[in-house]
Amino acid sequence: MKSPLRQAQLSCGLADIPTHFVISNADQQPVRNYLRRTTRRQRGTRPRVKIARSMAFDACMYEIVTHNGRQYIKLMGLKPRQRMVIPLTGSTPIRGNIRVVLDFENERIEVHYTATVKAMPRLTGEVCGLDAGVREVFTDDLGNQYGVGFGQTLGEISQKLNDKGRKRNKLHQLAKKAQAKGNWRKAKRIKKFNLGQQKLNRTRRKSRAELARQINTAVNQVLKKRHPSVMVTEKLDIRGKAKSKRVSRLVSLWTRSILKDRVEFMASARGSRREQVNPAYSSQMCPICGYVQRDNRNGDMFQCIRCKHADHADRVAAKNLKARKDDPEIFLYTPKERVKAILLARFTARLERDNPTVSGRTPDTVSGQSESETAQAILC
Ligand SMILES: [Zn+2]
Repeated sequence: MKSPLRQAQLSCGLADIPTHFVISNADQQPVRNYLRRTTRRQRGTRPRVKIARSMAFDACMYEIVTHNGRQYIKLMGLKPRQRMVIPLTGSTPIRGNIRVVLDFENERIEVHYTATVKAMPRLTGEVCGLDAGVREVFTDDLGNQYGVGFGQTLGEISQKLNDKGRKRNKLHQLAKKAQAKGNWRKAKRIKKFNLGQQKLNRTRRKSRAELARQINTAVNQVLKKRHPSVMVTEKLDIRGKAKSKRVSRLVSLWTRSILKDRVEFMASARGSRREQVNPAYSSQMCPICGYVQRDNRNGDMFQCIRCKHADHADRVAAKNLKARKDDPEIFLYTPKERVKAILLARFTARLERDNPTVSGRTPDTVSGQSESETAQAILC
């Protein structure tokens, strides 16, 4: 055991077997395992060399020079007194601590630096309710739509990635089958040439960038058109229950997180503020009479069953969201059931106020408009 060679032989089962007593192979195995385990534990993990994707530089470690109207950065490397000169595309003044990010795929570097954001004067326009949709990015409470082509792009991207995923699944199956049959070479070949990650990652990244661009444009349009002091939306980062698999896939396509990030960032950068409100029943409630019923909404159309008020469904939702901002009872985390009870109570209170005789009648005498019947309609 003292010599490493002897230890290695012991753990591999290559050591000489003693002749004056017998040890069966089954008895040797646990000893070998024990030895191997102990050695591995003692040795610890081996150091691994990783290629860092980014590194920090302080002001002494780089220099910015301009030559023939082009900006260059001279970066300190591992060789003393020798700096790497890299041309830059921009001409922004760079100073202080920076972070250099290596973009292996596009064979370029990015220089990240800190800059002070100029505080924008606060926007003074009215509060703007925004309903995030699947077809367009936003519909506001006036019925304006922003980012109209968004749904189509989202659909195309989703379709493309879905098709790709299906094809890849088939190839995964093929590789698995080949492996099960012992055809390792084939399995390896499929994994290497048909199931690589680089191209897929590139497609994903590009899609994400395109979606982010469209969302940016839409938020900019809202800010330009309405100059809202507050933008009222539902919680954008969580995903509600979608009606179909297709819609659910569309929405799950990172959109919500991009949407949230962009709206928050751009609102604060442009002197507006974003506020989240409770979205429960905002797409089913009539903004005129307060009647809540699922049947009020039919796809894009909203028509109140009770007062016949008709409008675009997304606009109704945006209006209701806007009204929720200053709601004295419904807060962001009020449970859905509680919201329903509150809305029901308000509706009946209004009904009694507008029509004092109604409470005295029985449900049979007033058809379709009685209090209890309505209550049932709301609860169902
Ligand atoms: Zn109504």
